[in-house]
Amino acid sequence: MSHVFVTRALPGGAGAGSPMDRLHAACEVNLWAGDAPPSTDELLARSEGVDGLLTMLTERIDGALLDARPSIRVVANMAVGYDNIDVDACTERGVLVTNTPGVLTDATADMAWALLMAAARRLPEGRTAIEDGSWGPWSPTWLLGADVTGTTLGIVGPGRIGAAMARRAQGFEMRVVYSGRSAKPDFPGEFVSQDELLATSDYVSVHVPLNDETRGMCDTAFFARMQPHAIFVNTSRGPVVDQPALLAAVERGTIAGAGLDVMTPEPLPVDDPLLRAPGIVLAPHLGSATPRTRTRMAHLAVDGLLAGLSAEDGVRPEHLVNPEALARSRGTR
Ligand code: NAP
Repeated sequence: MSHVFVTRALPGGAGAGSPMDRLHAACEVNLWAGDAPPSTDELLARSEGVDGLLTMLTERIDGALLDARPSIRVVANMAVGYDNIDVDACTERGVLVTNTPGVLTDATADMAWALLMAAARRLPEGRTAIEDGSWGPWSPTWLLGADVTGTTLGIVGPGRIGAAMARRAQGFEMRVVYSGRSAKPDFPGEFVSQDELLATSDYVSVHVPLNDETRGMCDTAFFARMQPHAIFVNTSRGPVVDQPALLAAVERGTIAGAGLDVMTPEPLPVDDPLLRAPGIVLAPHLGSATPRTRTRMAHLAVDGLLAGLSAEDGVRPEHLVNPEALARSRGTR
């Protein structure tokens, strides 16, 4: 029986057929019981002798860990993004990496939409006004927000979540434009250059993966190209955004506001300057945070782990990030 280290109790309960139950039925499970992620040292210690890891986006998996733990054959990440994993290091060592795409697409697009609407209609400022007593009699000119219906939405990164965002925009009679590495024939929107997208969009929503190409992509020049009434939304990963540049853009009126589900660092310190800008709406990385979505992600991560552990028998994980690693697979030890 394979041994695995699972870095958090999985959602979906412990009943028959739950993700945890499926793992226990197939493997010797070493479970990290804490709510906080294991530290690097704890991850190293608990990974001794295991065949596979089931990780969250909070765990850093790199060549040093894999060299110290040569028994690891599979890393199943319970996320669609895998920027916490050095995939090249895994591939070089024949370690399979799997992720959980698709099942969190709608929940994450819902969150991006919620942030877009909350920033447009200034919901946090409204709540603050209620709490601090500055809500006066109804006024025709007080706390006016931005229209959404009939405006233009720009999607940067036309993948699964970007497309789900574009579909939501159709219900608001919005024009949708998108930019990315290539035009997508089935994408519900018009392919434009990033410059044109920034210059013409009323809302700009980012849905790229975090990698060397996208790190810091949304910088001073990016925000300077947006319209002064435009709102920026990010549900991808915090480091895609140059955060001081975003704060400066909102505070100087280069853009009107922002809605962020992801930021740098996470958790954001309570005294972070990002919190001082009333036009910036923040959520603490809740994109996929619904019970149904998280349970589906857990099942998919278990699928990836179990399939990866059976790769020697010719089983190919459905959501394998690095197929090239199959040829170098570390094999059963
Ligand atoms: P996806 O289907 O792979 O879509 C990513 C899109 O970004 C693809 O269309 C890709 O282009 C495009 N892209 C890649 N590099 C680019 C670049 N340099 N410039 C412009 N576009 C680029 O992924 P997804 O499922 O939509 O997820 C997107 C990201 O959302 C994930 O990687 C993850 O980091 C984040 N996420 C966050 C949460 C949350 O809780 N906030 C939840 C889920 C996901 P190609 O089609 O050419 O490859």
